[in-house]
Amino acid sequence: LSFEHYAIREPIQKALRDLGYTQPTAVQDEVIPQLLDQKDLVVKSQTGSGKTAAYGIPLCELVEWEENKPQALVLTPTRELAVQVKEDLMNIGRYERIKVAAVFGKHPFAFQKQELKQKNHIVAGTPGRVLDHIQKGSLALNKIRFLIIDEADEMLNMGFIEQVEAIIKELPTERVTVLLSATLPEDVDALSSKYMKNPILIEA
Ligand code: AMP
Repeated sequence: LSFEHYAIREPIQKALRDLGYTQPTAVQDEVIPQLLDQKDLVVKSQTGSGKTAAYGIPLCELVEWEENKPQALVLTPTRELAVQVKEDLMNIGRYERIKVAAVFGKHPFAFQKQELKQKNHIVAGTPGRVLDHIQKGSLALNKIRFLIIDEADEMLNMGFIEQVEAIIKELPTERVTVLLSATLPEDVDALSSKYMKNPILIEA
């Protein structure tokens, strides 16, 4: 099967061809249709499985270009992953001119604040710095319709649970939530039961 079987517009199909993605990976084949359908998902998947594009492709399809405020928030445990997510999503959304900002610690706050003042469809970031921007008023959340919690087990191992919960409490409750994790220990399970609506479990 190819990406043409999904309800994804041609500019995104073209970007996927540019990237050399001819066939969806196993996790993409499970996640893409469900997320296009706006379902809450718990996804058990490893790095290297193509998990970023699994949520990135539907996000690029579903965000509205005209909206100036961010519509999707991607939480990552590390700055490296936040930057990688930004690059991957901008590549997928290049012909749709999808804008993605990345925010993370140990990097000038003012610089990121400027980036957040621009039009961004998607924001990727580490929990501490995301919360910092929320509290200082530089990250608007009222248009967020999608929350992605990437590498949730890593995020909790690194002690980010309080920040993650504080962020979730600020988000609109009418939203789609996707949690991705290589393992599903009790604390990850607790997070999904607390903040997600009958999530579909995908193991690919
Ligand atoms: P990830 O698991 O998101 O870190 O992705 C692992 C690698 O697979 C990245 O280098 C992606 O660019 C690549 N990738 C993702 N989806 C596909 C696909 N459908 N076909 C080929 N490569 C892919």
